[in-house]
Amino acid sequence: MTQPTDSPGAAEHRDVIIVGAGLSGVGAACRLQQELPGKDYLILEGRENIGGTWDLFRYPGIRSDSDMFTLAYPFKPWRNRKSIADGDSIRDYIAEAAREYGVTERIRFGSRVVGASWDSATARWTVEVTTAQGTRHYSCSFLFMCSGYYDYDRGHQPEFAGREDYAGTWVHPQFWPEDLDHTGKRIVVIGSGATAVTLIPSLAGDAEHVTMLQRSPSYLTVLPSTDPVADRLRRFLPARLAHRLLRLQYVTLTQAFYQLARRRPERVKKVLRGLALRFLQDESYVDEHFTPSYEPWDQRLCVIPEGDFFTAINKGTASVITDHIDRITERGIRLRSGTELEADVIVSATGLSLKPLGGMTIHVDGEQVDIGKTVTYRGLMLSGVPNLAFCIGYVNASWTLRADLVARYVPRLLGLMDREQYAVATPVPAVSPDRPLLDLQSGYVQRSAHLFPRQGRREPWRLRQNFFLDAIGLGRADLRQDMSFTPASAVGARSAAVTKPSVAGIAVDRAPAPDSDTAPDSDTAPAAATAPATDTDTPALQEVTS
Ligand SMILES: Cc1cc2nc3c(=O)[nH]c(=O)nc-3n(C[C@H](O)[C@H](O)[C@H](O)COP(=O)(O)OP(=O)(O)OC[C@H]3O[C@@H](n4cnc5c(N)ncnc54)[C@H](O)[C@@H]3O)c2cc1C
Repeated sequence: MTQPTDSPGAAEHRDVIIVGAGLSGVGAACRLQQELPGKDYLILEGRENIGGTWDLFRYPGIRSDSDMFTLAYPFKPWRNRKSIADGDSIRDYIAEAAREYGVTERIRFGSRVVGASWDSATARWTVEVTTAQGTRHYSCSFLFMCSGYYDYDRGHQPEFAGREDYAGTWVHPQFWPEDLDHTGKRIVVIGSGATAVTLIPSLAGDAEHVTMLQRSPSYLTVLPSTDPVADRLRRFLPARLAHRLLRLQYVTLTQAFYQLARRRPERVKKVLRGLALRFLQDESYVDEHFTPSYEPWDQRLCVIPEGDFFTAINKGTASVITDHIDRITERGIRLRSGTELEADVIVSATGLSLKPLGGMTIHVDGEQVDIGKTVTYRGLMLSGVPNLAFCIGYVNASWTLRADLVARYVPRLLGLMDREQYAVATPVPAVSPDRPLLDLQSGYVQRSAHLFPRQGRREPWRLRQNFFLDAIGLGRADLRQDMSFTPASAVGARSAAVTKPSVAGIAVDRAPAPDSDTAPDSDTAPAAATAPATDTDTPALQEVTS
């Protein structure tokens, strides 16, 4: 039966459409409301729930592996005692932020965006959405993609010879069966990444035994799951101030550790080895299973709170094997060394399948955009693609640190466009793309690098992995650099394309905008007297902490 379809011509219009109601989409909506309260926006969310990653993943023990002071929004204090938090608490936090900022009622759940087409004649995106009731269309002046970076419908599942012979339960952590009882079971977890080291201690309590089967070791670091300094600060200081201080402390520590790892890898290797040895007390075990061949932070560092994974190994409820799979058998896994691992449950913690821009197709004036051939502008827009931003977090620090900078950049750009009566902003590439977007050697990143935009070597065509430089750089960036603007007057359907200026305090019937060639950069010039302070008014330290 064909489902009913509305016509693109009847599309419901919004100033801004945000795609995705995860951590980034909700954060982006909160920022848009704070900075440009008059903007009319909608969030289109493909699933029925808020929270994205933190709602999808339900495997035992699911938790953050960054601290929550930096994974939380800067504008909403993290009040939970745990600084490494479980998935439910993070989902609740996102839902609470959405409620507090009036975002919840702007979300259209069950609305999967499958395509977006830009029409220069009207300066609008038409967005095609699949819902349970059929296809719907929306239009918007600006499209903000907060759709995450991986495929929600499938995880990465390598082909293993003989898999069809296996008689036990095969699980991918992205789709953990709600009714899977692992009590008393022999479990093998394939993989050595964050998911494997999170799952194993949680399963080990009730399982007969859990074996981590890794092809090669990963670096692990131990962090406390609560922080007494945070407890004290929160007791004596107002919540917002305590959150700001903690965020600054944690971001400084994590960025310093990252820089140290890149500049003095030998020192960091020694520290990480020392940590593993302190728990395991067995040099040959640490050498064999916890000494990777790559440098720290060539791949994302895995966190084990309180050393729980090492503790499970010490208790004998978990163990590690470093070997290659020869084939899957009826009863388990045969390794290249000849060992047979019997398993009632095999967990294929083999990672994510990455997917840019929520898997949707993008057309600009009828021509399909090959995202892999675009260059990223400041890591948040695409060369040659008008009025579209996307949100991607850091790989070396909490996602939200960057997501929030992007969420603040977009209202700055929209504010400039409103003030100057520009209908269209298009990044115009002035560099050749010569580097992948994500600078990690992890398999899951390498496999999909060609699908993502690339980056150049100079500003504004780079995606930096440095929060402090970005906090100051993005907050004060010249919005006009390498950006082509089209005045609303040059767009056919002017009145429809240009939304009423909605920066609070700038009247609709204000004086005509000055000639952009002679006027000072409006983003750095003083705003109208009643306009809210822009980011450029903010001292550098505040940009880092707010
Ligand atoms: C298991 C796991 C643990 C992680 N732990 C950490 C951590 O500790 N620290 C950290 O910094 N990062 C972590 N990450 C990265 C994590 O994804 C980010 O922290 C963050 O949650 C990303 O938020 P997001 O909103 O950008 O994307 P997501 O959480 O992926 O949300 C995207 C939303 O967009 C929706 N969507 C996607 N495509 C479409 C479409 N076409 N139409 C409509 N809706 C769409 C999705 O349904 C989803 O709700 C982890 C990731 C995973 C998978």
